[in-house]
Formats: sequence, C-alpha cells, structure tokens
Amino acid sequence: MTKTQAPIPSLTLVPRHQPKLYADDILLPDESRDVRSLARAFADRIVAPRAYEIGHADEAAVDFPRDVFGEMAAAGLFRVPFAAADGGRGLANPALATALVIEELAYHSNSVAAIYDVHCILAGHALKRASPELRERYLKPLLDGTKIGSFATTEAEASTDLSVGALQTGVRESDGGFLISGSKRFITNAPVADFVVLLCRDGERMSLVVVDLDLPGVRVGRPDRKLGNNGQLTADLYFDDVVISDSQVIGERGTGLRVALQTLTYGRIGIAASGVGMAQALFDHCVERLKTRRAFGKSLAQFQHWQFKLAERATQIENARNLYYKAARQLDAGLDFPEPLAAMAKYYATDLAAAFARDGVQIFGGYGFMRELGHDASRYRVEEIYRDAKIAEIYEGTNEIQKWIVARSIFGKEFTG
Ligand SMILES: Cc1cc2nc3c(=O)[nH]c(=O)nc-3n(C[C@H](O)[C@H](O)[C@H](O)COP(=O)(O)OP(=O)(O)OC[C@H]3O[C@@H](n4cnc5c(N)ncnc54)[C@H](O)[C@@H]3O)c2cc1C
Repeated sequence: MTKTQAPIPSLTLVPRHQPKLYADDILLPDESRDVRSLARAFADRIVAPRAYEIGHADEAAVDFPRDVFGEMAAAGLFRVPFAAADGGRGLANPALATALVIEELAYHSNSVAAIYDVHCILAGHALKRASPELRERYLKPLLDGTKIGSFATTEAEASTDLSVGALQTGVRESDGGFLISGSKRFITNAPVADFVVLLCRDGERMSLVVVDLDLPGVRVGRPDRKLGNNGQLTADLYFDDVVISDSQVIGERGTGLRVALQTLTYGRIGIAASGVGMAQALFDHCVERLKTRRAFGKSLAQFQHWQFKLAERATQIENARNLYYKAARQLDAGLDFPEPLAAMAKYYATDLAAAFARDGVQIFGGYGFMRELGHDASRYRVEEIYRDAKIAEIYEGTNEIQKWIVARSIFGKEFTG
C-alpha cells in the first residue's frame, strides 16, 4: 500500500467538542455564536482534511496553504474583524468573533490559525489606523484575500526589548519621501506576502509604515525551518535603502510603537484563543483514546489517575476560554484597554496548551510520538500539537512578558519598570 492510499483512522474517527457538558454558549451573544458555527463548519470542511499536510510541510514558499487561504477569503472569514465602512462584517463584537474564528481554526491546525492571526489581526488592525488611501490599497485586498499581509517588529537584536535604542531598522527622509534600511526576523507570511506593516526607528521615536515587498531593495530571506507550525512560513526581510512615499506612514509619525503594542494586545487575545483551540483538540482526542484504549482488562478511562487529570484539564480549558472571552468583550465594549486581561489570557491559555500537549502524548503512549505509524499509516494529532503549542508561549510577546504586564497593573511601573 502506498503512502497516499493509507487509511488515517485516528484523524477521521475522533469526535469533537465532547462532552457537551462544558457549555460555553451562555457567555456568547447570538451574533458570536453564529460566527462560531460558521467557523466550526468551515474548519471541519476545509481545514481538517488538509491539516496533516499543512502541519508537516517542508516550509518552502510553495508549502503556503494558498487553497485554504483562498477558501478563508471566500467564506468571508477575513471580514469578521472589520467595520462595515472598511468592507468588514460590521459586527457588534468583532474582537470576540475574531478570537472564536481563531479557536476553531486552531482546533484543526495552529498553522492556519497563525496565518489568519497575522494577516487579519496584526497587519489588518494596524492598517485600520491608516489613511483612506492606504486602507483602499491594502486593507481592501487584505479582506478579499487578493493580497497577503505581514507585520514586522522583531529584529535579530530587538524583539522582547522593542526600545528605540535596540531597533536597527530605520526610516529617514529623502527627496519628499523616505528611505528604509535594516532587517526583520521571523516574519510570518514573509515568503508569500505582498506587503509588510513595518515598525521602524524614526529619529528618537518609532513609526509604522507599509511597504510593498516587490519594491527594489527589498529581499526576502530563505524560509525558516521550525519545530512546529510548519504551515506558517517565516523568513527574514531585508531593506536596502528602499524608497517609499511619505503617504506610506500609518497614522501620525512617531506613534508606531503605541499602535504596534495595541495591535499586539489584540493579537494576544487571538493567540489565547489558539491555545484554547489546541487544548480543546487535545481534550477531545484524549477522552476518546482513554475510553477506547484498554490495559489490565479495562479501559484507561477507568483509572482514576486519568479521570482526575482530564477533570483538571476540563476546568483549565473553561478558565482559559472565559479569560479570552472577557478580554475580547472588554475590547469590543470600548472599556479600559484590556492589556492585562489579554496578557493573562495569552499566558494562561498557551501554558495550558503546551502542558496538556505533554500529557496528550503520554496518554497516547508510543502512538502519541508517531507522525505516522509504519504498520497502517495511521496518524495521531497529539504529536503535531506537541510541536505547535510551544511557539504560542513565545510569539506576540513571550509569556514572561505577559506576566510582567500583569505585574505592572498590580504594582505600577515604579516597581516593575
Ligand atoms: C514561528 C514564529 C513566528 C513569528 N512571527 C512574527 C511576526 O510575524 N512578526 C514579528 O515581528 N515577529 C514574529 N516572531 C518573533 C517573536 O515575536 C519573537 O520570537 C518573540 O517576541 C521573542 O523574541 P526572541 O525570540 O528574540 O526572544 P528573546 O527576546 O531573546 O527572549 C529570550 C527569553 O528571554 C526572556 N526575557 C527577555 N526579557 C525578559 C525580562 N525582562 N524578564 C524575564 N525574561 C525575559 C524571554 O521571555 C524569553 O524567554 C515570530 C517568531 C516565531 C518563532
């Protein structure tokens, strides 16, 4: 039997979101439940059948899942976060709806969830601050999927520390426009993106500019090869005196860091949702496995050790989900900017996904360590989540930095810096 003919029972037989006991609908407005149903049906139909291939890709530019990206655009998922005036769905609770979409995508593929997060939340939200001309040129095609967006703050020597002294990529005035030079690292979608929203040093402040990646002087590095999220392509971006017009600046000059950090706060709610999506997938796969795998004459689910372990994980998933719902709802309500809540949600949900992934592999035993079993080519999703969950603790602000943000809201900057 060839590889392509092999059955994949473990991917097709596992039921999802069971048991119904953990009903989270009570916290969701009707509108959000509708978006979640749409996203769940989409993820089941479009993402699930492609998820294994995406999650085990070789990470060349051709491995970008253009088919799934195109289907997300066609299903209107890129319109969920945006106002009607920008061609979006115009939802009353767009942040909550966006996070729900990410949870559903991550349930089957954290790579796809990350592509969506960067395209829509990071690039898209930064562009919401841009002039009507820039929104027409970049946000509109981003929503209909004809352009792929990327968002770059990270550099080789400036990442967690995004202070102006650390940032090397700079913008300087020249002949009525600007020249950009420097480089960025680990930029999601870079090998396939049409443009990047770029954080640059601008004198003693920072500005955000949008740069087309086909301009002279722009070079995209070789795609990185990573532990997980293999369908989420990343690469360095190099800028060698790239000429842009001054109309490419997003918002006011010098406000780039503030806009970037607000965008990342939104993004962190999305990363929290992706952690919940991965944890929920682990939960469903593990419950099914514990009920059906037998040892010592009974099913593994009859051992209290695993009953208690899953009871703990169920409680933690509820907590993580409620945290990201609350952060998103606070953002949608226009109340205090939910930076500490988003930070709590991000670190709690992603710590949970990574810790639970370790349990998940343990529950599946040797099968949990398999990408594909030689005997019958069966595949076990826990292996992929084990590799994917780790990065959620790192990107869009490491979990140590999230705790710092929470601590700052407790003690104040005079104590925490
Ligand atoms: C798959 C992937 C996709 C990415 N996508 C993008 C993207 O699209 N755009 C983009 O701009 N960036 C992106 N990044 C970059 C990512 O956001 C950074 O990797 C992340 O911010 C951490 O930076 P670093 O890797 O340089 O780690 P470092 O900054 O070197 O940190 C190393 C460790 O030191 C800890 N640390 C640092 N300072 C402190 C402190 N004050 N107290 C305690 N601990 C501290 C950190 O928490 C971390 O554990 C991506 C990275 C990856 C791997």
